[in-house]
Amino acid sequence: MTITKEMKMTSKEEKVQKYMNKVYEKVIERNPNEKEFHQSVKDVFQSLIPILAKKPEYMEKNILEQLVEPERVITFRVPWVDDQGKVQVNRGFRVQFNSALGPYKGGLRFHPSVNLSIVKFLALQQIFKNSLTGQPIGGGKGGADFDPKGKSDNEIMRFCQSFMTELSKHIGPDVDIPAGDIGVGAREIGYMFGQYKKIRGSFQAGVLTGKGLNYGGSLARKEATGYGTVYFLQEMLKGNGMTLNGSTVVISGSGNVSIYAMEKAIELGAKVIACSDSDGYIFDYNGIDVETVKRLKEGNGDRIRYYVREHPSATYVEGCTGIWSVPCGVALPCATQNEIDETAAKQLVENGVKAVAEGANMPSTAEAIEVFMKSDVLFGPAKAVNAGGVAASSLEMAQNSMRMSWSFDEVDAQLQEIMKSIYQNCVEAAKEYGQEGNLIAGANIAGFQKVADAMIEQGVI
Ligand code: NDP
Repeated sequence: MTITKEMKMTSKEEKVQKYMNKVYEKVIERNPNEKEFHQSVKDVFQSLIPILAKKPEYMEKNILEQLVEPERVITFRVPWVDDQGKVQVNRGFRVQFNSALGPYKGGLRFHPSVNLSIVKFLALQQIFKNSLTGQPIGGGKGGADFDPKGKSDNEIMRFCQSFMTELSKHIGPDVDIPAGDIGVGAREIGYMFGQYKKIRGSFQAGVLTGKGLNYGGSLARKEATGYGTVYFLQEMLKGNGMTLNGSTVVISGSGNVSIYAMEKAIELGAKVIACSDSDGYIFDYNGIDVETVKRLKEGNGDRIRYYVREHPSATYVEGCTGIWSVPCGVALPCATQNEIDETAAKQLVENGVKAVAEGANMPSTAEAIEVFMKSDVLFGPAKAVNAGGVAASSLEMAQNSMRMSWSFDEVDAQLQEIMKSIYQNCVEAAKEYGQEGNLIAGANIAGFQKVADAMIEQGVI
C-alpha cells in the first residue's frame, strides 16, 4: 500500500484506496526516476480518498488516471552562442498538463536543476492552484536547465530568443500563457515577448504575463505572490485566533516571492528576522531591512552575504539550510522545493513555531509536513498560499483583453479578495469531507473537484 489515510476507513474508502494505489503504481512504472513528480502525485492523492468515496463517478470515469497524464509534453533543444562565440546547448521543457478549466497557465523556470520530473511536479500542482483561484485557467509549467547566474545581459537575451523560437510554436493567448518563476523575471519575459512578437508578426499582449509595465504588464503582479502569501497567512492566523502583528518571521530566499512577502509582513507589523539565498542566510533580531535586500538582489543579483556590510547588527551564516534553526513564530519557506526536511521541521517545532505558510512550491518534504501536522502547527500548503502570483497573472490577462490598465490598488484589492476566498474554500472543503482544520486536504479537494467536474462535463477527450 502506498497511499494511506490515517483514520479508520469505511469500505467505500478502502475501495478508493485500492484504486488510487493502482493508479499511483502505474505512475511510478510509467515515469521512472521522476521522484518530485511521484511526491507531488502522492501529496494530492492522499487528500482525495474522502471525496472519491463520496462521489463514485470520479472513479467510474477513471478521472485520476486521466489527471496524472499530461495532455502534452514538449522538450526541445535550445542552442545559443555565448560571449566567447561558443555554441552552448540547453534543454527546454513545456508541460501542458490540463486544460479543463481554460488555457494552460504556469511559469517558466531557468535553473540548472530543471528536468522533466520537476517541471511535471510543478505543472501538476499548478492545475489545482489555478483551480483554487477561481480564474478560468488550466495548468502548465516549463523552463530550461539554463543557469542565468554569471551570464551577461546579451547571453541572457540570446538564450531567451532561442528558447522562444521553439516555444512560440506551442503557445498563444488562448492556448498556453507562460509567466516567470525561478530565474525568469521581467527582463527575461521582455526578451521572450520581443521574440514571440517578431516570429508571429503581431503584438499579442496576452501571450505572456509578468510583462513590463510599458507594454501590457499589470501593476502589482511583481508583488502578488509575496503579498498573496502574507494575505493567506493573515487569514490563517485570524481563523485561529492569532495575529501577524508583533510576530517574528523567518523567510527563506531573497528572490521575487521572499522580498514581497517580507515587505508585506513588515507592513502588517511583523518583524522579519532572517532571509537567505542559495549560499547562506542572514539574521538580525532587530529586524531585516527589506530595502537593502531589494537593492542587493533585484539590482545586480548580489549575494545576501553583502547585507552585513551595511548592517553590522546582522550576522551572515554560510549554508542556506541553517536558517530553520533561527527561532521564530512564523516560518515562510519562499525559496525552492524540499528546503524544509524532517530535521529542519523538528527544529522549528522545538523552537516554538506556530505557523508555516509555503510561499515556494513544495518547500516541505512529506516527512516535514508530518512533523508540523502532528505538532499542531498551522500549515498553509503552497498551492493555496502562493496562488496570488497566478491570480494576478490572470488579472493581467483580463486587462490585456480589455486593452486597459487597473491601478495598483485595484489589483491589490482583487488579490486580497481572491486570497481570502481561497482560504475560505480550503477551510470549507476540509470541513465538508471530515478533515476540519487540514488546509492541505482542503486545498487538494477544492482544487480537484472543479477540475474533475469540468473534465467529466467535457467528455473523454
Ligand atoms: P527567484 O529566482 O526570484 O528567487 C529564488 C530565491 O531563492 C533566490 O534568492 C535564490 O538564491 C533562493 N534559493 C534558491 N535555492 C535556495 C535554497 N536551497 N536555499 C535558500 N535559498 C535558495 O524565484 P521566485 O521568488 O520567483 O520563486 C521562489 C519559489 O516560489 C519557487 O518555488 C517558485 O516556484 C515559487 N513561486 C513563484 C511565483 C512567482 O510569481 N515568482 C509564483 C508561485 C510560486 P540565489 O540568488 O542564490 O539563487
